[in-house]
This record gives sequence, structure tokens and C-alpha cells, in this order.
Amino acid sequence: MKNREPVLELTNITKTYQVKQGMFSKPKPLQALGGVSLRIHKKDVLGLVGESGCGKSTLAKILLGLERPTSGEVLVDGKEIGPSDRQLLARRIQPIFQDPYSSLNPRKSIEEIVSLPLVVHNIGDSASRSQAVTKMLDLVGLPERVRRGYPGQLSGGQRQRVAIARALVINPEIVICDEPTSALDVSIQSQILNLLADLREELGLTYLFISHNLAVVEHLATRVAVMYLGRIVEESSAADLFAGPKHPYTRALLDSVLTPDPSLSVPDIHLGATFPNPISPPSGCHFHPRCPIATDLCASKAPPHIQAGASHVDCHFYKKSADGLSLQPV
Ligand code: SF4
Repeated sequence: MKNREPVLELTNITKTYQVKQGMFSKPKPLQALGGVSLRIHKKDVLGLVGESGCGKSTLAKILLGLERPTSGEVLVDGKEIGPSDRQLLARRIQPIFQDPYSSLNPRKSIEEIVSLPLVVHNIGDSASRSQAVTKMLDLVGLPERVRRGYPGQLSGGQRQRVAIARALVINPEIVICDEPTSALDVSIQSQILNLLADLREELGLTYLFISHNLAVVEHLATRVAVMYLGRIVEESSAADLFAGPKHPYTRALLDSVLTPDPSLSVPDIHLGATFPNPISPPSGCHFHPRCPIATDLCASKAPPHIQAGASHVDCHFYKKSADGLSLQPV
């Protein structure tokens, strides 16, 4: 693991938008990403977790070439991806989005939808594209007869299977799964998660799996990164993170998984304050107004980045030790 080269690497990615809050107000900077560095190795599943508005989807858009970072580098197989490489990026990185209802064109047949990436990338002829659609429908567990149908005739789970077939038809290496089960009934969610796990095994895929819900990520992730207000505040192997979450925010996210309805996100009962406005983030550690163990230091000084092996946590209360990362009094 240590010696493997990452297939996808983000180095110190920042993204700042200029946002107007009123018709006559001056635009103010909103930092959606504040220096995100991540490495994803082949066949790994990196679970990226955090509440709505934390920057997860901005990161996904940058990886898909839909947005440019303000600064920082995106490397695929060690090669930097620039503005002119969008086509190349699309061949290697494909998305599966949250809402299978809006991500499929209702006026196109399933065959047209699944074969569209082949047409866009000028791959094959109509006969080979038709064969590819047959193979993909079989791979995602859809009957051959749906190819002549339209999205409106399918269930939510079937539509998400179509979206997965469309993403995989050009043999990408990396799939960005952006909340792929959030819009589905709970009973269907596990079927889609199992399908994604099987496809990863069968096709040797690498996933960035974005979710607000740690319980969903636990099914698939080999590593987990926890994001808060545009920064990764904790990252480690999935086994370590679920066995011993370190950052107080990660612990709160895990507590929220234990509530009756995990889709309610982080319960304020544990955090005491709502998610801050990213235009005017709190001083020091951005998490301090909600952190149950915050001190005066947390309000005045940004926490250090404590790295131990392949794990890290950004918190004044941790230090590197022989066992990895351990809690210490400040
Ligand atoms: Fe909480 Fe302070 Fe650690 Fe931030 S630095 S997570 S406020 S203890």
C-alpha cells in the first residue's frame, strides 16, 4: 500500500467563489475548498464524508473537469491535468450522480442514454455500440427489454442502474459516486451499494464515494476522508476510522449514524450550533463553535495538521505517538 503510486492525486486544491449576498452588496469571497490534498490508489474506495455545503460537490466538479481550481494540482497517474485535458479526464473519470430522476434525459431511450458516451468519444460503430449496451445492461442487472424503454418507465433503482451503465460503458478507471443512493428508498440503497461493490471487484474500478452519511460509506470504503468547511479534518483507513474516530466532528458524524433517521445529517443535539456560513467562517478551528471540547486556543488559532503514517487529523488535541495519533491535553 505504502509503495503504490496513486492513480488520482489532489495537491493543495483551493476554490474560491465571489458571492453577492444582496443586489447592491459587493461580492465577497467564499472559499469552498481551503487546500485539499488527497491520494487515491487503484481499486481503492475513498469515502469523502461531510455535511451539505462542506465542499464535497465542488471537489467532484473539479475532478470531472466541470470547474477549475483556484490553485493546486490534479494529477492522474502522476500527470497533471490542465484545462485542455477535459476530454482525457472524461475518458478516465466518470460520474454517477445522486438523482437518477434528473440525470437521465426523459426523451431518450435507455439504449441512446447508455451509448451516448461512446458517441461523444467517437468509440466504435453502431453495431459495436449496440453490443456494448447489451453487455452493460447485463452487467448492471437490467433485462435486455428495457433498452427500448424510457427513464419514465423505470423505477428509481432501475434508473440508477442505467446511470451506472452509462458511466461504465467507456471503461473508465475512476468513478466519482456523488451521493449515488441518497435519492433512493432505503430498501433499494443496499442493492445499489452491493452492485457498486461487485462492479469494482469485477472491473478493477477505483471510486471516490461522496456521501453525507458515514453509514453508507462504511459498506464500501477502504479509506475515509472527513471534510468540514472545505478542509479534510481527518483521514485514515476505513477500519481505523470506524474503530476509533479521532476528530470531534468525525465522532459527531458517527453518532448521527446511530439516530433513527441518518438522513437528518448531524444532529444539533451533539454539536450545539448549526453549520456555519462559509462566507464568514469561524476563527481559529472552523469547527470550534460546535466542538464539545473546544478551548480558547481553538477559537484563536487554526489547528495543526498531525500526520502519522497514512492517517491524519487536524486538531489541537492530538499528537503523533508510537501508536499513531493520540489524544493529549492542551
Ligand atoms: Fe475541537 Fe479544538 Fe480540535 Fe477544533 S482544534 S476539533 S475546536 S478540540
